[in-house]
Amino acid sequence: MKKKILIVSTGGTIACSESENGLVPTATAEAFLAYLPDRMTGDFDISLLDLFQLDSSSIRPVHWIQMAEAIRSRYDEFDGFLITHGTDTMAYSASALSFLLAGARKPIVLTGAQLPADVPGSDGPANLKTAFQSFYTGFTGVMIAFCGQLIRGCRSSKLRTHSFNAFESINVPPLMDFSSNDHGYQPPEQEPAPVSAEELFGTEPFKIDSRVGLLKIYPGMPPALLTSMAQLGYRGLVIELFGIGNFPTEEPALMDALHTLAERGMIIVTKSQCTYEPSDSDVYAAGRQLSGVRPISAKDMTTEAAMTKLMWALGKTSQPEQIRHLFSQNVAGEISL
Ligand code: ASP
Repeated sequence: MKKKILIVSTGGTIACSESENGLVPTATAEAFLAYLPDRMTGDFDISLLDLFQLDSSSIRPVHWIQMAEAIRSRYDEFDGFLITHGTDTMAYSASALSFLLAGARKPIVLTGAQLPADVPGSDGPANLKTAFQSFYTGFTGVMIAFCGQLIRGCRSSKLRTHSFNAFESINVPPLMDFSSNDHGYQPPEQEPAPVSAEELFGTEPFKIDSRVGLLKIYPGMPPALLTSMAQLGYRGLVIELFGIGNFPTEEPALMDALHTLAERGMIIVTKSQCTYEPSDSDVYAAGRQLSGVRPISAKDMTTEAAMTKLMWALGKTSQPEQIRHLFSQNVAGEISL
């Protein structure tokens, strides 16, 4: 039996054409079929869904919910999903979908391109092929297929503005490198029994609470920037610290501002500004002083995963201890515990 795949288009450069104001997404999912070799299209029974046509810089939490809902409502009908998406915020969408659709036992693959698919020399056709190749591998869950690699969605970050290898798998190797055929997938001895969307994801509307701030500290940062987070009504804050997890010790007003946020019930997540390797605020006095605000460490998570995970946890419950518990778990492979 042919595998049933749904292509969900959402816009991005891969779908762009030139306009007098610059590139805008115009192509629909149907256009992408032309880039797949007959051998591949013959192996799959492909359906199409045009969800929206956006430059991904405009994709917001409401769109993550729309994507998650589009997949949940068709999950039982298809064997795999390909979401075409702009690269700018693809790592955020892939991370958010990893939490909203945690436990998915089918592949949900995002791809896009650095150049419009119909431009000569574009990476779009190759990325579409890589995405379809991933449907043969047996990997499941939310992933990004890009530049010959398959990356766990909640471990992805866009690190390059225009090179074809825009994405990296952060702090873990990619699931698969198609150029070397190098991967750790062990096929199950027996095909697991199908589990329905209702059993996996429930039927409650998906919820995300986007009242989460993101702050990268910098030398000379005024304390008012921290306190403004409470004035904006945020319930959570991801704060990117220096190095392994340090915060200034010589400016008490900064630490006071953090205490004020914690006293107002703000959930504070700490992570390093460095892209690679885990944070640990226990090493230096400059980090340990933070223990009074009970920060939750994002350890080796990406910023995209930390932000979307906190929004997801806040959407699930208003109980601070439950939020802390949810955030500290490994939900979709986003953290090394
Ligand atoms: N601005 C585009 C987008 O994110 C960039 C891309 O797709 O590569 O939609």
